[in-house]
Amino acid sequence: METILLRTKNGLTGESTKQINKLRNAESAIFNFGMRKFLTVCFVGLLAAQASLAQSKKDADWMRKAFEQARQAVEAQDLGPFGAVVVRNGQKLGEGQIRVIRGKDPTAHAALQAVRAAVRHSGSADLKGAVLYSSSELCPMCLSAVYLANISRVFYGFGLSEGGDFTKNLVYLKQQISIPLEDRKVREMPVLRENALDLLEKSRSFLQQDFLLNPGTETD
Ligand SMILES: [Zn+2]
Repeated sequence: METILLRTKNGLTGESTKQINKLRNAESAIFNFGMRKFLTVCFVGLLAAQASLAQSKKDADWMRKAFEQARQAVEAQDLGPFGAVVVRNGQKLGEGQIRVIRGKDPTAHAALQAVRAAVRHSGSADLKGAVLYSSSELCPMCLSAVYLANISRVFYGFGLSEGGDFTKNLVYLKQQISIPLEDRKVREMPVLRENALDLLEKSRSFLQQDFLLNPGTETD
């Protein structure tokens, strides 16, 4: 006797109604599982996209505060549109604007001012977890301050190469730091090296190692 094969919509075959129903139920379960998984992935993706959009908006809001500092510096006839804000856990720790002219201080850059204000506010030299928003890309001095203060991330507005006369000295500084010591305009040369090494050795035993072994703990 010839066997009549029944077929599911996905092409699986069975010899009886019971058999084909089992196969169809299995297909349906697989489809439902796949659909649930797909919808879960879509939902998680949507949540992540929403969180990312909200964070971008917060970043933009903080950057506008850095721009406001920069605008104030220009209005006050200082060196240019440089402003910065340091933020941690959604709270402002400090802000600053360039004060080179007003403060008669060549190191009074906006980001450095903001880091100093944040350190004063938080009562610690360690700004771990903080974010710095700056109207411009950082010069090597301000970037050093970011590293030394343990700041986690930096957002900036315009690049140093885009700042024209406002940033040409900073572009030069960046270039100087990128070339070998012997090619730089300002030379660094050791003098009284033996005495310096002796001072270093005495300092080590004086400090009893605690600070050196546990950097960062001295600020607690
Ligand atoms: Zn700087």
